[in-house]
Amino acid sequence: HVKARGKDNYCFFSESMSVDSTYRLNLERDLRLALEREELRVFYQPQVCASTNRIVGLEALVRWQHPERGLLYPRDFLGLAEETGLIGLVSEQVLDQACMEVSQWIRSGHPDLRLAVNLSPVEVDHPRFVETLMDRVKANRFPAGNLEIEITENVIMNDLEQISQKLRELANIGIRIAIDDFGTGYSSLNYLHRLPIHTLKVDQSFVKAIRSSADDACIVNAIVAMAHGLKLEIIAEGVETDKQLEYLRTLGCHQVQGFFYGPAQPATDIAKLLKKTKATLRCPIDLETTP
Ligand code: C2E
Ligand code: MG
Ligand code: MG
Ligand code: MG
Repeated sequence: HVKARGKDNYCFFSESMSVDSTYRLNLERDLRLALEREELRVFYQPQVCASTNRIVGLEALVRWQHPERGLLYPRDFLGLAEETGLIGLVSEQVLDQACMEVSQWIRSGHPDLRLAVNLSPVEVDHPRFVETLMDRVKANRFPAGNLEIEITENVIMNDLEQISQKLRELANIGIRIAIDDFGTGYSSLNYLHRLPIHTLKVDQSFVKAIRSSADDACIVNAIVAMAHGLKLEIIAEGVETDKQLEYLRTLGCHQVQGFFYGPAQPATDIAKLLKKTKATLRCPIDLETTP
């Protein structure tokens, strides 16, 4: 693979670059096969009401059960999926699987259970984004009011007018919109009152900062206060310790998600968990009276 070296020893493709591109080609081929063979699996992480400890939602997180390499995580293949345009097919399979599984749970005693799905900026930018998403929801007869899509602030950096129109169409049929990794993007806060947003998800890095002194937590404090002011739901991600949970409760954070309650798990484990739990309730948030 290494190109002939010139007299100045200039080398166009380094050894590591060629290994890299072979690796990528193999991965791309494998991902196409995986989509055909349906090797993608949706794992679910519970979203828990901070005041009642009940499961109110499930976030779908994609995994790839690779025949030789074992269980792969989004960081191993989503970048490639976005670059190669395969992300649309990935999403379609994730949505179909998640809608099918979660609608069974909704129908069997958990009528308010929410499904949260992540979408990449490239998908949201696609001209047929709204149509494609609605098609999946309808094809699976999934109750739109139980669906929340998670997008990042990077989506909003693009054309605000266009994004606004797309999100409004979704919100009009009851789909909820969450801003994921809130506080880590580069967009201004302008969009918060110009877009139909329902939920802010505090990024894990700010939750990690909750340790001992109140100073460590000043960003979390500010984000939760802002969400209250804007009457938005607020979910903290990456909650790992009871200290963090306690602190977030005191702040009035509505929901929490993280290893403290459990990682993302396969559908069979979630089904067992839901069987043991009483009917899930909507998180009792009174947005008018939150502190
Ligand atoms: P995210 O949506 O912000 O999801 C949170 C990530 O943090 C997940 O990683 C989750 O497993 C992990 N996590 C949850 N609780 C804790 C905790 O207490 N501590 C720590 N350290 N980590 C925790 P995962 O599953 O590897 O997903 C990474 C990212 O990949 C997601 O970040 C999301 O942006 C993206 N992603 C996942 N599934 C999909 C999908 O189906 N479609 C698209 N477009 N993106 C996805
Ligand atoms: Mg997410
Ligand atoms: Mg996040
Ligand atoms: Mg993310």
